[in-house]
Amino acid sequence: MTGASTKLDGVRTKPLPELEELERVIELGGAHLQCEVACEVMAGGTLPVHAISLGNPDPSLPAVGFFGGVHGLERIGARVVTAYLHHLVSRLAWDASLRQLLEQVRLLFMPLVNPGGMALDTRANPAGVDLMRNAPVEARERALWLIGGQRISRALPWYRGPHGAPMEAESTALCERVVRELHGRPFSMALDCHSGFGMRDRLWFPFAHRSAPMESLPELHALHEIFTGSHVHHDYVIEPQSRQYLAHGDLWDHLVLTAPRQGVFLPLTLEMGSWLWVKKNPRQLFSRVGIFNPLIAHREQRVLRRHLPLLDFALRAAAGHRLWLPQGEQREVHRRRGLALWYRGLDA
Ligand SMILES: [Zn+2]
Repeated sequence: MTGASTKLDGVRTKPLPELEELERVIELGGAHLQCEVACEVMAGGTLPVHAISLGNPDPSLPAVGFFGGVHGLERIGARVVTAYLHHLVSRLAWDASLRQLLEQVRLLFMPLVNPGGMALDTRANPAGVDLMRNAPVEARERALWLIGGQRISRALPWYRGPHGAPMEAESTALCERVVRELHGRPFSMALDCHSGFGMRDRLWFPFAHRSAPMESLPELHALHEIFTGSHVHHDYVIEPQSRQYLAHGDLWDHLVLTAPRQGVFLPLTLEMGSWLWVKKNPRQLFSRVGIFNPLIAHREQRVLRRHLPLLDFALRAAAGHRLWLPQGEQREVHRRRGLALWYRGLDA
């Protein structure tokens, strides 16, 4: 279903600028894009969760998934991902090298995973469930109380959903698209854009449910090396999420644990440090949305520009994975360097 037709389906009552912008970009992309409504949610009207693919669908090729708006308050994540999709579809009209690149890679975009939460100005989805605590993964060590996910009440934040219940429609839609478009390929990455944690922009990788590293630590370290080598002035803190806090129910942990063993799957989470925006504009503290988003236009434009190179890096790293993924003994070299960099003090 295209953006144009989904616009007609609904009984939306409140404008949702992020969804409208995404649907404009879908229209702009036209025949370059394969679009579907992955699920629909009710929030004062019916809202679609769009999944958009482009590039070569051949499953023997690498793939990258870009995700945003998992937490309804974190509007800037949806805007960053939509801005990158806009950037790509605009360039497809004239950029021959980009067209060639997209012959070698598959891209998946889900820029607004939780439109209901965004419409209602809540972190959770309309059922009160925090989608990033909703997967069937239990923290092995002590998760942070409440923040790490809780089943006490949907009235409290970080609610995981009822015990034993299936995942929410939005979580299921995301996981199904990852399984279909990213899993099982020789190499795939995901970049899930969030905001709200601390002063610095962070790039997190799994796990969130335990402090020991994931199987693909050598590949993560090699990715880190080519990123830092080609972006020497970057300002991201790159680390396993477990270095900050442990949590139950992380969708990316779940998707790493259930990924087929052939191929490499590296999901990253971009956590844009929104406290800096609050520091520069303290009045934002009095706005719920303002704690998670830059409210001043020039600052938002700067944020949208700042992360484009990272998203473009993901595309190029995936397309060129054969040139840098460590093989044979090099895997062990990278594993040891990854352990020294991120897991010192752990017997992993
Ligand atoms: Zn978030």
